[in-house]
Amino acid sequence: MIIVPEREIAGLMTRKAAFDAVEKVFAAMSAGDAYNFPVVREAIGHEDALYGFKGGFDQAGLTLGLKAGGYWPNNLEKRNLINHQSTVFLFDPDTGKAKAMVGGNLLTALRTAAASSVSIKHLARKDAKVIGMVGAGHQATFQLRAALEQRDFEKVIGWNLHPEMLPNIEKVAEEAGLPFEAVDLSGMTEADVIISITSSFAPSLMADHVSSGTHIACMGTDTKGKKEVEAALLETATVFTDEVAQSISIGEAQHAIAEGLISQNDVNELGAVINGTHAGRIDEDQITLFDGTGVGLQDLAVAASVVDLAAAKGIAIEVDF
Ligand code: NAD
Repeated sequence: MIIVPEREIAGLMTRKAAFDAVEKVFAAMSAGDAYNFPVVREAIGHEDALYGFKGGFDQAGLTLGLKAGGYWPNNLEKRNLINHQSTVFLFDPDTGKAKAMVGGNLLTALRTAAASSVSIKHLARKDAKVIGMVGAGHQATFQLRAALEQRDFEKVIGWNLHPEMLPNIEKVAEEAGLPFEAVDLSGMTEADVIISITSSFAPSLMADHVSSGTHIACMGTDTKGKKEVEAALLETATVFTDEVAQSISIGEAQHAIAEGLISQNDVNELGAVINGTHAGRIDEDQITLFDGTGVGLQDLAVAASVVDLAAAKGIAIEVDF
């Protein structure tokens, strides 16, 4: 069995490798070659922690496994550890033997950033110039960095409920040599691409904050009750997702469906666009919306990729198990 500790991930995993792994597994999901298992998420009644498992099997990539972990809200203050903690376990699909144990914290950030990036590649207008960020927390910096590689963006605009956090994304824009402007939500009409990545339970981005032709990646809503955008936006937009079952139960589509604005049939798989079985964006004025809920197969795909990279570089720790 191979171990790739958390401390090695930053030196091994590239944004390109994460992008390729996620794009490939979305395609495999849509082709019916890969599926996610039901998610388990429990409040364990200890340290206010939320703990769970996300797993799946990719028959095309022969990746079987799970990510175990969750959210420990007291970690930072009490132990100087990050609050999100996760580990990926991979198994040999031929024998069931444990194959690898991989640190999952940075990988989660990278695979989430890769998902919105894949949606931008396949759904945003080719001439997109302005990218808008709604959210400026930990994950927002990863989303922005990855997104900037998908189009020739000329400007970053940002809004955050807590404006003191905006320098987080301003720094990423500066690193890329792009101007940054803090805007009101109404200023988001300037954006050709918008990424929303907050932990909100009430919508920030409303339908009249979005211009025609925009691509929106909603990345924060991954739990029942969370909501980042006005449900009416999903009625106007062509909606895509990583997995329809998650989109309608824990993603943004949960609200639009509950309000009777759209039906499950209006939610399309991004993988179908990648595979060419869905046309994706068909005109310049269309609003496209990616409801990125985060699936276990994304975690397994990036973990498998990192195991290969660690083995190739000779830094995988091998244990007899
Ligand atoms: P964080 O705590 O670092 O940042 C939270 C962000 O949400 C900040 O920008 C904060 O200002 C904003 N926010 C908080 N309350 C808000 C409100 N009521 N209205 C508007 N904005 C509000 O968290 P993070 O690590 O950046 O994660 C952000 C979200 O992304 C979380 O909800 C997390 O669960 C989700 N997430 C989703 C995936 C996925 O695959 N879809 C993966 C990782 C994280």
